[in-house]
Amino acid sequence: MALTLLSIDRAAFMRIHKRVEHGELEAALAVAKLWADYPPAAELECFLCSKPCGNADYPLAPPFSIVLPEYDPRFTASKLIAAPLCLSCAAIKPPALRFARCLSLLKKMAKARGKPVAFHQIKHHQPHPT
Ligand SMILES: [Zn+2]
Repeated sequence: MALTLLSIDRAAFMRIHKRVEHGELEAALAVAKLWADYPPAAELECFLCSKPCGNADYPLAPPFSIVLPEYDPRFTASKLIAAPLCLSCAAIKPPALRFARCLSLLKKMAKARGKPVAFHQIKHHQPHPT
């Protein structure tokens, strides 16, 4: 099992997320399709705890994804990162705490790559297509 992070287009995601918030089923399906080209959720590693992201009740469901800001020293990122979470990490409440944990891990990863740490602040988004 390996950690898979998706790089997604920021503008396209924001557009589609707005439609999901308005309850458009088609838009929700488009978000779910983010993971269509990747292994099933059970074989994806949780970004926070490394456990499998699968849901035994819905083995074909895509993983819960949290959308995080891309590393961006100039605050002009056109990309966002979608990271899969397992069911227990997806259930961390409140969502702001879940987001903060993911962001701090992302910062550690950036630091480990030897880059200075600066992230573009975005509004907290958690698409949940299932
Ligand atoms: Zn987890």
